[in-house]
Amino acid sequence: MTLDHLPLDLRRTHRAGELRPAQAGERVVAMGWVSRRRDLGSLIFIDLRDRSGILQVVFNRETQPEVHARAGELRSEYVVAVEGDLVRRKPETINSSIPTGEVELVASRLLILNDARTPPFPIDEDVTSAEETRLRYRFVDLRRPRMQSNIELRHRVALETRRCLSEQGFLEIETPFLTRSTPEGARDYLVPSRVQPGSFYALPQSPQLFKQLLMISGFDRYFQIVRCFRDEDLRADRQPEFTQIDLEMSFAQPQLIFNLVDHLMENLCIVANQHWESQARIQSLTNYRPIEIDKPTFPRITYDEAMSQYGTDKPDVRYEAKIVSLDPLVSAKVANEVGIRPPIIGFKFSPKPQVMSSATAIRGELKSVLDLAHQTFPELRARQTEPDKPALLVDFCIVKEGAKILKDVALAQELLTRLNAKEGDVLFLGAIKGTAELRDQYLPHRCFDILRRRIAHQSEGYDSQAKRFLWVTEFPMFEYDEEEKRYAAMHHPFTSPTDETLDRLESDPGAVKAKAYDIVLNGTEIGGGSIRIHRKDVQARVFRALGMSEEQARQRFGFFLDALEYGTPPHGGIALGVDRIVAILAMESSIREVIAFPKTARAVDLMCDAPTPVSAAQLKELGLELRKD
Ligand code: ASP
Repeated sequence: MTLDHLPLDLRRTHRAGELRPAQAGERVVAMGWVSRRRDLGSLIFIDLRDRSGILQVVFNRETQPEVHARAGELRSEYVVAVEGDLVRRKPETINSSIPTGEVELVASRLLILNDARTPPFPIDEDVTSAEETRLRYRFVDLRRPRMQSNIELRHRVALETRRCLSEQGFLEIETPFLTRSTPEGARDYLVPSRVQPGSFYALPQSPQLFKQLLMISGFDRYFQIVRCFRDEDLRADRQPEFTQIDLEMSFAQPQLIFNLVDHLMENLCIVANQHWESQARIQSLTNYRPIEIDKPTFPRITYDEAMSQYGTDKPDVRYEAKIVSLDPLVSAKVANEVGIRPPIIGFKFSPKPQVMSSATAIRGELKSVLDLAHQTFPELRARQTEPDKPALLVDFCIVKEGAKILKDVALAQELLTRLNAKEGDVLFLGAIKGTAELRDQYLPHRCFDILRRRIAHQSEGYDSQAKRFLWVTEFPMFEYDEEEKRYAAMHHPFTSPTDETLDRLESDPGAVKAKAYDIVLNGTEIGGGSIRIHRKDVQARVFRALGMSEEQARQRFGFFLDALEYGTPPHGGIALGVDRIVAILAMESSIREVIAFPKTARAVDLMCDAPTPVSAAQLKELGLELRKD
């Protein structure tokens, strides 16, 4: 088959998916891919696809015999240019399932610009091919309307971020990729230096230190949509390189950052709504509902509130049921008899009609939650080998008219009132059994979080399509690392302690709270940040609390500690995860669906086959030698 050149004077006049009856009668030149071809003898139809959608093109043997004959050569995914008149379709041939369904292009010229091999999977919307094949042929996969829509939404999010932050006086400033280790605490990706053999750059885990330096330099409001690199074991929502909206402000209090991000997120939701309204495929989606933001500011709760009410620092507040403390209710005497001790907690589950209502079903669910909890939390895991370690005790009862839920009738009544329970509700009660000291006071709560997440979608009042944002504030400054037997920074070591708890840095580090915050959307952390330490005396005390000697601190962050002494303004910031935000706005469950060229869970790029071994010559040039064992 001969291919045509694209003539210099032939310009595309419209995108295929944009055409409507208002343009009927116009001369149209469209260019794109053959999505489908139907040969009815004297008429050949093709669906011409470009990134805006699909347009039906008709080739008529009677009026345009040569063009019709050429159209006979078309196959799926051939690249074409078609010129013709746009006409309204006859009422009986209107296709109401696509936005261009009332018109068609009657072709008078066809150029076949390229042929194509049969794609490894059909490009049509609802194909579920193996992800490995999709990633290997990502260039074809990205041609699918769903992926085109996701990538466009991502672009809109980036554009709106730039617009919104610029309007608030932020400057976008780039920071280096070839740098040295940053303080996020994950493993670094290293890049060997050729010029200085034996020395390595680290790719930044975030621009943390640079953005703080920019505050010292007086830029006062910085942002960047920036790639970060962390060599971690990957999970569904992690990638070795990921993108953040990174920002920093001088003279900022947490409130200022919350308000700014509330405003930004609200605008991103508006943009997502606009995007979805422009999407042809919205018609086929049953789970789409425009995002409603009902309050100008998102709710804010402290870390301790989040843990005691939801058992997690990223609660999904689409489901309102909270954990309730029953401590003062269950007397110490009763607790002692049963061998449990505070905290004793309760949780009410109101199943939707016909769901999880039998005791057997609930018992089964509970067992698997408890098994998971015992595997997940080290303090509970230890019990398997050391029986005196704490164990989790959870029981439940179903509220039934006239039935006794507990032996102690007064206690039962109080319980029903506290949990606001009604007929048919299931009440879960949890506590820790055993006498060993508990390091984690929220252990029973964490187990209820697992339970809460599992049963949420079966509960009355759970609105799976809602978008619920939440701020979690005042995180603990440190967390205890059981393996290393020392405190580690929960956020990073440049995070400022709260003014009220600063005094306890030396005496009780576990009680120190940080001016650190996370923003959570539907149970997923989508960003985190803090107000930073701007005084060198406080910074030195924090390093000490972390068990870092002055020398060690100097070795890792010397340049930064120097800079702190040159007039550092109070400052703070946040980083928001673009991949996660776009995935939620695009209604995708994996961030790989919103990244053009993602890696697999083993950090491999299947399309370009990276990473790969390198030649001996390259290694030599870098002064590196591979171990043979
Ligand atoms: N650099 C931090 C991070 O990437 C965010 C911040 O504190 O601004 O998690």
